[in-house]
Order: sequence, then structure tokens, then C-alpha cells
Amino acid sequence: MKEARAARLTGRIVAATHNRGKLAELHDLLAPRGLEVVGASALGLAEPEETGATFAANAAIKAHAAARAAGLPALADDSGLCVSALDDAPGIYSARWAGGSKDFAGAMARIERELKALGAPLPWRAHFVSALALAWPDDRLEAFEGRVDGCLVFPPRGTSGFGYDPIFVPDGHDRSFGEMTAEEKHGLPRDNSLALSHRARAFQKLARALID
Ligand code: IMP
Repeated sequence: MKEARAARLTGRIVAATHNRGKLAELHDLLAPRGLEVVGASALGLAEPEETGATFAANAAIKAHAAARAAGLPALADDSGLCVSALDDAPGIYSARWAGGSKDFAGAMARIERELKALGAPLPWRAHFVSALALAWPDDRLEAFEGRVDGCLVFPPRGTSGFGYDPIFVPDGHDRSFGEMTAEEKHGLPRDNSLALSHRARAFQKLARALID
């Protein structure tokens, strides 16, 4: 079946993101597979408005826009942190909670404030979701989703990674994503066991379908 796919991913690919943390993670995932990754900013691509109601819809909007503009396959990630006691907020609004100045310290403080205001019982459960969309210039699209569950910790811990990494401790671990190395957070296990981060888990599905 796999041999019959017209859409195997090779060569140059646009990472349809202007977020440097995500670009670094996508590069780490794609480059070892022999793919040349170019960021949307480096190509001067505009950032489309994320008008979708789901992670998958927003990923598709970004991937289609970049693939059409660049004439290359484009991989977009739409992702975010869903806090169970906050009805899965900030969810698709995760970047927007940090505002134009990308104030993630403020966004993390808001989560803590809202959980305390609700009197939400500990542990504060949360999960990250990554919806990956791979679009071709002719508008074909493939979609994959990854998720990692864990608990929130305050005050934030660690300085690695980006966004909400310092407050998220994945299940089975005692350190936050902010305290882990890039390899620990989103490295792909050599034995093909499940990767840790939501983005790496979505990427494992993509790699199985389109690269390996
Ligand atoms: P968007 O997908 O570009 O709309 O933004 C997703 C937002 O979710 C990012 O700006 C981060 O704040 C947050 N986020 C997504 N993935 C991660 C992650 O791996 N660590 C920390 N924060 C993340």
C-alpha cells in the first residue's frame, strides 16, 4: 500500500510557522530524515489568519497557504495547551493568551490565577495537542495528531523549550518540559517506541505514512 502513495515526502519542505521554537522542533524532526527545511519567515511568507475552530482546521489553513505561496510541500503545526479544569482553555487560543508581546510568563500566571479562582482540586490535569498538516501545492492534504497528558506545576520550572513548557510535567516524569533537553522532549526513540512530546508523536504518525 505504502508504495502506491504518490505523495512521498522528499527534498525541500516549508515549515509553515513563524514561531522559532516550533521551527527548531520541526527542523530537528525533519532534517535527520534527509529533508531540507525552510522556515516561512525565511521565504517572506505572510502569516494567514487562524480562523479555524479546531487545531486541525488551523493547521490546514497554515499548510495550504504556505504550500500555495511557496510552490513546495508545506508542513504546519497547530498546537496548544488544554487545561482540563478550564474546559480545555487556552486550547486553540494558546498563542493568543500570550498576546502580541508573546508574554508567556503572563499567560502561565493567568492559568494559575483562573485555576485558583475556580478552586480546582489538585492535580491540575492538562494535555498538549499537536495537529500536523502537510499540504502540497496542488492542495492535497494529509493530517496527523499527537497528544501528551500531564499535570501543571507552579511556579514555572526550567528555561528550555518555549511557550508553556515550564509548567507542564508529562505523565511518568518528574521534570517539566522546560527542564528537559530538546532530545528528551521531542527526540524520536530509536526503537520506534512512543515519543514524548505531542509534536513528536504526531510526527511519528506522519513519518510512518509519508517518509519511512
Ligand atoms: P499556534 O499553533 O502557533 O497557534 O500556537 C500554539 C501555541 O501553543 C504556542 O505559541 C505555544 O504557546 C503553545 N505550545 C504549542 N506547543 C507547545 C510546546 O511544545 N511547548 C510549549 N508550548 C507549546
